Amino acid sequence: MFNMKKPVHASQTQFQVQDNCLLVGGIPLTRLAQRVGSTPFFAYDRALLCARAAQLRAILPAEIRLHYSIKANPMPALVQLMAGLVDGLDVASGAELKTALDTGVLPQHISFAGPGKTDAELAQALAANILIHLESETELERLDRLAMAMGIMPKVVVRVNPAFELKSSGMKMGGGAKQFGIDAETVPQVLQRITGLSMDFYGFQIFCGSQNLKPEAIVEAQSSTFQLAIELAQHAPQAVRLLNIGGGFGIPYFPGELALDLDPIAENLRQWMPRLKLALPDAIVAIELGRYLVGEAGIYVAKVIDRKISRGQTFLVTDGGMHHHLAASGNLGQVIRKNYPVAVGNKMSGTGREIVSVVGPLCTPLDLLADQMALEQAEVGDLVVVFQSGAYGLTASPNDFLSHAKALEVLV
Ligand SMILES: *Cc1c(COP(=O)(O)O)cnc(C)c1O
Repeated sequence: MFNMKKPVHASQTQFQVQDNCLLVGGIPLTRLAQRVGSTPFFAYDRALLCARAAQLRAILPAEIRLHYSIKANPMPALVQLMAGLVDGLDVASGAELKTALDTGVLPQHISFAGPGKTDAELAQALAANILIHLESETELERLDRLAMAMGIMPKVVVRVNPAFELKSSGMKMGGGAKQFGIDAETVPQVLQRITGLSMDFYGFQIFCGSQNLKPEAIVEAQSSTFQLAIELAQHAPQAVRLLNIGGGFGIPYFPGELALDLDPIAENLRQWMPRLKLALPDAIVAIELGRYLVGEAGIYVAKVIDRKISRGQTFLVTDGGMHHHLAASGNLGQVIRKNYPVAVGNKMSGTGREIVSVVGPLCTPLDLLADQMALEQAEVGDLVVVFQSGAYGLTASPNDFLSHAKALEVLV
């Protein structure tokens, strides 16, 4: 039986099409490829990045601060653009800290979270005078020792691992036993220790998970986060000035997935704001987003190098693959491999669709960008585009695998 309800990809209408060719930053993809000079490359669309930040601003309560989590895409030019669109930058390594500081964003608007910060990274963070998110008690001790030695008063935020989790999240980063944050039940005693140290306590970060497309799950987690923060604040050495509630907003990657409905999330936040004002009058609420801010504004572009048929199946062999885009190959946390939205960027609206698999140049069957998808008939030299590639693309990929050239990145 023909299945009428076969799920399809959410349509990629954020990029316009002109004369059959995808436009990136208003430039036809074929021309952009000439301008870049070689394939494969990632292209990020400035106007789409600006539009996404503006859309979030318009819908979220005005008093909520919007932060960009650099790890989603640390390309310096993109981070520089984001720095002008958001209220703060979140970093997760010493190198990301450098990128953040290079933008000119004030140190009080930069925060450093993540397990396993080395002494060198903690010292960099201290010297930069940014907010340091504490992930464990031993990190607290190491930070205290370094701060004493350097004669700098650390600004600290306690990252809490809550007892609840963000349901239906692509990646859970809170709840149960986790390497992230300090277990909520231990936090009162850690706050007690901080009280006895020479540290400037700012508040809490509670971040439960990534890539969530269910507004009701996000609403529930955010409400639990606020309740927990209010409880924990009773043990705080000084007034809570910052409540970082994480991010986790997802984007549609796979067939059947739809864009996240922000309305219920914004409505819940709006209801919480006056309650928080009463309970934590000095607290600024920050949302830190990576994927949602940048994911849909980027594409990965690879050129067809070969077209071959093997036992009735057509393969497009491209110069790009999993070494640049691990996530699209299905090897970054997918349990059952599904296709990202893919198109032939210089043949957007033809009629000659065929079922093909798009593979890369690596000698492994894992190097797959599209598995038996309906694409416009492509020939050698055509440009295959992988959408939803602005976040966790190049930065989350094993670039050196098989020692091919690194992909270029452009902000257009
Ligand atoms: C990765 C990360 C984020 C961003 O997550 P997204 O799902 O990309 O929005 C936010 N906060 C922390 C602490 C993170 O580690």
